[in-house]
Parts: sequence; structure tokens; C-alpha cells
Amino acid sequence: MTATDSLPRTAGVYDVERVRADFPILAEKVRGKRLAFLDSAASAQKPRAVIESIAHTYTREYANVHRGVHYLSERATVAYVAVRGKVQRLINAAREDEIIFTGGTTDGINLVAQAYGRTALKSGDEVLITEMEHHSNIVPWQMLRDEKGIVLRVAPIHDDGSLDMDAFQALLTEKTRLVAVTQVSNALGTVTPIRDICRLAHAVGAKVLVDGAQGIPHIATDVQDMGADFYVFSGHKLYGPTGTGVLYGRAELLDAMPPWRGGGDMIRSVTFEHTEYAPLPHKFEAGTPNIAGVIGMGAGIDWFTALDRDGLDAHEADILAYGTARLAEVPGLRLVGTAPEKVAVMSFVLDYAHPHDIGTILDQEGVAVRTGHHCAQPVMQHYDIAATVRPSIGAYSTREDIEQLVAGLGKVREMFG
Ligand code: PMP
Repeated sequence: MTATDSLPRTAGVYDVERVRADFPILAEKVRGKRLAFLDSAASAQKPRAVIESIAHTYTREYANVHRGVHYLSERATVAYVAVRGKVQRLINAAREDEIIFTGGTTDGINLVAQAYGRTALKSGDEVLITEMEHHSNIVPWQMLRDEKGIVLRVAPIHDDGSLDMDAFQALLTEKTRLVAVTQVSNALGTVTPIRDICRLAHAVGAKVLVDGAQGIPHIATDVQDMGADFYVFSGHKLYGPTGTGVLYGRAELLDAMPPWRGGGDMIRSVTFEHTEYAPLPHKFEAGTPNIAGVIGMGAGIDWFTALDRDGLDAHEADILAYGTARLAEVPGLRLVGTAPEKVAVMSFVLDYAHPHDIGTILDQEGVAVRTGHHCAQPVMQHYDIAATVRPSIGAYSTREDIEQLVAGLGKVREMFG
């Protein structure tokens, strides 16, 4: 029996109770209460298939990959290399060697900033981002600005959290060499018009990096249809293990880029005078990889893609609409981020309690939410607030979770209101 033998159980129909049954942690009581886990945007919980995959690798099939000629190394290598094809199919990349394994979204963006940015961009070239980017899609470009003299431009958002496309287009000029933009805002839930962004950017000759960390768990993603030149995401937000992720890049761009990290596995030959680099994807994968993690990410992708996609989308849309409506009824509550195109996230503030106090009281009621700036301080600055409470949903979320949240907010009102 392999870890993914149980997969077809959820295929074909969307039955949230059966989905929940795949997540052992959801049966845990926290603080003596039913767990309402509403923090999937920070990291998703793991289905049994992923947990068992990791245990299976270490119990039955673990050794270092690639170089070994012995049985265990061969088994681990077969499982490990198969994941590249799973990712390729998940995002519809044209080629398997366009999939680079990384440590996560942050790692992928830094790889592009360092390997592509440092060589393809020169002083005065502009990188266009948006006001709703996660810090990991801001800071690497600022580091490049300080080192290389590139110019960082920021497209603003409207007060509902949608991207100001007029301003975006005005900032997009022939000086723009790279557009780095999120598919979905982690603080607001806004879905950006990513196909339009790619089309407009390409019209001025710019390349596009898409931060898919919050997009891939909620939106069927096709990098070719989207027009992305680079696409990055994290395994742990897609029901897989932490420390895993993917950089997709068009082969032509990846081929032209120098490696970022040097070391084992990324070379064809080494002498003290000269090193010849390995072809894609290995050129960008120096060192022993996260073997069990990557295999576990593959198990997460198998689990995720076995879900009925239309059913999943309809379910998440229902929970978001229901949650938004129920929150809107809470006295003194203001939603932060009300863009027409939204997924998965319901950020809010209460006019009589601080987000951290709200989070602490909700925790006593078994409700797990994130509070703070969500690594998107410029978004907070836009709304002139320090923090929000951010419930976020995933494949296993239910209306019962929302009811528990709203009941918890009743307790907050009793204490602070
Ligand atoms: N971008 C977005 C939109 C995110 O939500 C996150 C994670 N909160 C990241 C990037 C960074 O992802 P990671 O911490 O997994 O590298």
C-alpha cells in the first residue's frame, strides 16, 4: 500500500465531510473546543496522504537521490523525479524541465531576482509591482534596487482592494522590464486580472513574474494560458509540506539565466579552471534537495487534483459568500478588501477591539485566525490601520466554522463592545 492509495475516495464529487475526514488534525479539540481552522492562507493543513507519504519515504524508501546506484536511492529518485511531471500537469507548463523545485514562494522570487534580475536588468530599468504585494515580492526587488540601481514602481489599489488598472497601465512603459505581481492578495483576497496584466506587460516588452502562493490553492491555474514568464508557489499552502515550492519559468528565460547557488547536482563537470553547468532544471537545484518534502508535495498535488474541481470552487465560493454575509451582520465590523473578484480571505477590523485581542479571544473558542499585518504592511498603510483579523478558508472549511467564528465575535463584543 502506498500513501496515495486512498485518493480516489474524494474524486468525482465534492463532499466536504469526506474531505475533512482526510485531515486528522481537524478532529483535534483545541482548548477543549471543536477546532474551527480558519488560517489556511498562512498554511494549509495536511491530508493523510501527505502525512503518510512522508512517513513512507523515511520508513521504506529513503536515501539520497540522483547519484546512488543502490535500491533505496533508485526508489527515492523515482518517487522524487515523478513530482516534476505532477507539477507540470498541475500548472500546464509546456515542458517538465521548466519546473524548478525551491524552498517556497520566497525562495522562488529571490531566485528570479538574483539570477534573472541581476543579469537581465540594468540601472534605470523599471520593475513594476503592486501595492498589495506580500513582503516577499517587495523586499527582493528593493535589494536589487539598492545593488543595481533598478527603479521600483508601485501600482496602487482602489479602496475596495482591487488593482487600479488605469494607474497600472500609466506606470507600464517601455522602461518597464519586469512586472512582479500577485495572483491573489493574501491580506485582502483580491484576485488580480492576471491575464490582462501579462498581455499589457508583454505589449511593452516586459516579462511577468506571478506570485501564485495564494492563487494556486483556489484558482485553476494554467501558466501558458495566463501568459506568465515566471510563476512561483509554496507547497505548504497547497496541502503539502513546508520547505517545498516551485519556480516555473519559460525554458528560454531559464536557459539564458545564470545559476544562483553553486554546488553539487547543478554541474555537468568541474575543474578548478572551469565549471560547466547542468541543463535545466538541475542548474537551479544545487545541493541535496528536500527529498521527502518534494515527494510529499507530490502526494499533496495528487490529493488536490483528485478533488472535483468545479465542486471545490463552488464550495469555497459558498463559504466565502456565507462568511462575508455573516460577518457583515456583526455590529461595528468593517471588512477590509471587498473587491468584486475575491477568494478565500475575509480580513476585517472591529471598531471596539484590537485584532490581537480578538484573535486571542477567538482562540479560547477554538477558532484559529491570523491577526497582524500579514507580511503586507503597505496594504495596512493604504487603509491606515496596523492590523486586521484574517479568517481564511480552504477545501475543508464549512459553514459551521463560520458560525463558530461569529459566535466567538459575540464573546469579543461582550468583553469589549
Ligand atoms: N506571497 C504571498 C501572496 C503569500 O501569501 C505568501 C505567504 N504568506 C508568500 C508570498 C510567501 O510564501 P512563503 O512564506 O511560503 O515563502
